[in-house]
Amino acid sequence: MSATSPITQDVLTLPRKLPQGTKTNIVGLPRNALRAALVAAGTPEKQAKMRENQVWQWVYHKGVRQFDLMTNLAKDYRALLEQNFTIEIPEVVSKHVSSDGTRKYLVRIAGGHEVETVYIPEEDRGTLCVSSQVGCTLTCSFCHTGTQKLVRNLTAGEIVGQIMLARDDLGEWPELGRAPKDEARLLSNIVLMGMGEPLYNFDAVRDAMKIAMDGEGISLSRRRITLSTSGVVPEIARAADEIGCLLAVSFHATTDEVRDKLVPINKKWNIETLLAALRDYPRLSNSERITFEYVMLKGVNDSDEDARRLVKLIEGIPAKINLIPFNEWPGAPYERSSNNRIHAFADIIYKAGYASPIRTPRGEDIMAACGQLKSATERARKSRAAVAREAGIPTSQT
Ligand code: SAH
Ligand code: SF4
Repeated sequence: MSATSPITQDVLTLPRKLPQGTKTNIVGLPRNALRAALVAAGTPEKQAKMRENQVWQWVYHKGVRQFDLMTNLAKDYRALLEQNFTIEIPEVVSKHVSSDGTRKYLVRIAGGHEVETVYIPEEDRGTLCVSSQVGCTLTCSFCHTGTQKLVRNLTAGEIVGQIMLARDDLGEWPELGRAPKDEARLLSNIVLMGMGEPLYNFDAVRDAMKIAMDGEGISLSRRRITLSTSGVVPEIARAADEIGCLLAVSFHATTDEVRDKLVPINKKWNIETLLAALRDYPRLSNSERITFEYVMLKGVNDSDEDARRLVKLIEGIPAKINLIPFNEWPGAPYERSSNNRIHAFADIIYKAGYASPIRTPRGEDIMAACGQLKSATERARKSRAAVAREAGIPTSQT
């Protein structure tokens, strides 16, 4: 294996230049911030809690984007909202639908950057794969996203906005008081497995997920949200405490030597340190297992010995091992393991008592599979010079 990478890229993170509008976007504000903003705009303190609830339900339960449709609010109060606030979500630039039903949305966020959001329908669920950053600071050598620089973190509004735009597209805003059961929803699960490392954008991810879980809004159970991390150890406990979601870990190797090369953050927090943090993850049980993601790379991490080592390493952790056949991309330094190899590997894990599903690549025809989310940002990157100019950075730096 020849590929080696630094832990982080030599990045230039462009500061965000948000449109300097005077109006506040409601989408993405935590409840207390929304209430404070309503008060600052002239809502009497005594009414603040009630108004917060009303606006919240219109925005997150009914999916309404215009204040004049908020019919249980007096006309002059709607006018006050109109003067002070907006309800904005990112714009869908294009949508591709795969022959297997997977939908990939190219989404434009403030500043003109683009990220991708992928909807994956399955028999018993519909999963939305959400991005948390434009690009990624980390440099996992098998990941297409990892070859592009971090442009910026998404805001909470842009993260929860991806859920809202998918609901728009799926026509899934329920009547008030008639929320369908989780199993019956088209969009029933969230995975933070799109572009970016969610634990390096913790606050925005947390605020967005709190909004998604709120019972008077999108109302997804914390057990239907899975955050995937490459192993940002100090933030793992926070994910349990402050979000309460399930955890997936991009494990991918069974020795530090190999993991250093595949997931370079391993040089900072190695396998032993990572496993200790995982063992401490609260509420671990058979129904709340940690998902170990394991990308199958021919001749690199796919031997029987690797499978046996993996089982030994995770001993005692309620876990499921998700085997991901490597999705190739142009110029990638690896190949996908053969089907026989993947099945032999899965078998060893299964016999040791762990579920070892092999992830079927979805949406391959539209480049929507894991680790292929790049094309959009690649285009965004071409206009870095323009972005830098806008942000007031000398273009020679870009
Ligand atoms: N940054 C987070 C979440 C996004 S990646 C993380 O690394 O966990 C989602 C999953 O896809 C991760 O397990 C990642 O390692 C995997 N992945 C990335 N590139 C891939 C590729 N080309 N083929 C298969 N899986 C890939
Ligand atoms: Fe970033 Fe995850 Fe890709 Fe690694 S696998 S480069 S952490 S998006």
